[in-house]
Amino acid sequence: MTEITCQLVVIGGGPGGYVCAIRAGQLGLDTVLVERGKLGGSCLNVGCIPSKAMIHVAEEFEKLTEAANGKTPFGLTAAQPALDFKQAIAWKDGIVQRLNNGVAALLRKAKVKIVQGHARFQDGKTIVVETETGSKTIKAETVVIATGSAPVELPSLPFGGRVISSTGALSLSEVPKSLVVVGGGYIGLELGTAFAKLGSKVSVVEAQDNTLPLYDSELTAQIARRLAALGIEVLTGAKALGPTAQGDGLRVEAADGQERSLAADKILVTVGRAPVMANLGLEQLVLDMDGRFIRIGQHCETSMRGIYAIGDVTGEPMLAHRAMAQGEMVAEIAAGLPRAWDKRCIPAICFTDPEIVSAGLSPDEAREAGITIKVGQFPFAANGRAMTRHGEAGYVRIVARADNQQVIGIQAVGQGVSELSAAFGLAIEMGAVLQDIAGTIHAHPTLGEAIQEAAFKALGHAIHV
Ligand code: FAD
Ligand code: NAD
Repeated sequence: MTEITCQLVVIGGGPGGYVCAIRAGQLGLDTVLVERGKLGGSCLNVGCIPSKAMIHVAEEFEKLTEAANGKTPFGLTAAQPALDFKQAIAWKDGIVQRLNNGVAALLRKAKVKIVQGHARFQDGKTIVVETETGSKTIKAETVVIATGSAPVELPSLPFGGRVISSTGALSLSEVPKSLVVVGGGYIGLELGTAFAKLGSKVSVVEAQDNTLPLYDSELTAQIARRLAALGIEVLTGAKALGPTAQGDGLRVEAADGQERSLAADKILVTVGRAPVMANLGLEQLVLDMDGRFIRIGQHCETSMRGIYAIGDVTGEPMLAHRAMAQGEMVAEIAAGLPRAWDKRCIPAICFTDPEIVSAGLSPDEAREAGITIKVGQFPFAANGRAMTRHGEAGYVRIVARADNQQVIGIQAVGQGVSELSAAFGLAIEMGAVLQDIAGTIHAHPTLGEAIQEAAFKALGHAIHV
């Protein structure tokens, strides 16, 4: 058995783990990264990147279909489009491969040693890795757990055959004729929308009263309208009971208590993700848990000295950029720098059609926190750039403290608003007041002007509405 001694070992090479390892390497720490699968984790291989590639294919296909059906108001027509789905999947896989190689190169540049295999704790300072060439023991001063998450399986719908997880949905060989999505959250609606645009007959079965229950209903109302326009049937307050006797669909208990069957070539189960901790040897440690997740403090420290946890294994929000920010911070802490989790917001984006962005507090959340607020909302219907992109639906909404005008939340719904999220996060993180945003020249014609106008509106003097 080979033995490696290092200053920092990171278990898991997803966005949390690889960012942590790169930053630690940059800071001169002798760093080892253990990954049992592919570098980049869920996000790069079966999550953020491949799903956005598929969403892009679906958007392009829908545009061509609209043009072929003579539905564009700007006079564009096209022949009926054809989709080579295998090529679309190959294109998506090519992007993933390029990014895998990119992460490996960045790790090498930072002088991080990569060990390929499954890691298990022997004790708080010792990890045993089963590699293809035998076991390796790694002894480290600091250990970072970044083992991520995996799809939750429903007992009534175990994965296999027609029942697929997001990973299966991103590597299908053909577009299913009918797709039932169980769970109308992030993944269900992002992928459900994409498959509807690609031609699937899509139904969504959601247990709660609303889809995307994490977002406020003002924002999600636009999504609900679009789902309906795409012909997606949404059953809220519904329960997935299991496959039909013939195995060709899903039995559902609808909100009214009636049972019905939905035809399904594929059943995509997207009811959340659970932390990955199996065979990690956690029984050798005494870690405090937070429900199913590892409990962490403001330095991402666990209840055991020298052991940190970052990313999805520490719970919600399970977002790649949170994992990366935690990873960067923990590397600096391991190198002795004074850091703590002091972020004011973690922006969240739902890449539906239209997209939703939320940074900081919504009006309801601010009121519930006892803050007196003023809100400014500016519609894209009054934004020239949105009109020239044929994307007038939606708005930007700013939430500010009434006493000192400090911006504590910004939300938007609309086509392409994901790219505005950086401006939202920056404003909140920098402690901007409404006057800062109103006083910043926003280039014309851009969707970003809606942020400035929303600030003007909150100050009581919008120009363009
Ligand atoms: P992961 O990315 O899960 O990486 C953990 C790594 O640890 C894996 O590579 C795994 O192989 C490895 N590992 C686990 N156990 C061991 C072990 N014992 N030994 C060695 N290696 C181990 N987030 C966004 O912010 N934006 C999005 O648009 C977005 N879209 C998504 C779409 C889908 C379909 C899915 C499934 C997720 C999406 N997410 C998105 C969520 C995002 O993927 C996760 O939040 C992110 O990947 C978490 O990073 P992580 O480093 O904590 O864990
Ligand atoms: P989610 O938590 O977003 O949605 C799960 C949905 O399933 C919820 O609406 C929930 O009410 C519903 N549900 C739960 N049990 C159910 C049942 N038995 N029957 C019917 N509905 C049920 O989870 P997800 O969509 O699986 O995504 C997992 C994680 O991945 C999310 O927490 C998110 O952080 C991350 N993610 C992020 C993005 C993004 O940032 N754009 C995209 C995809 C995934």
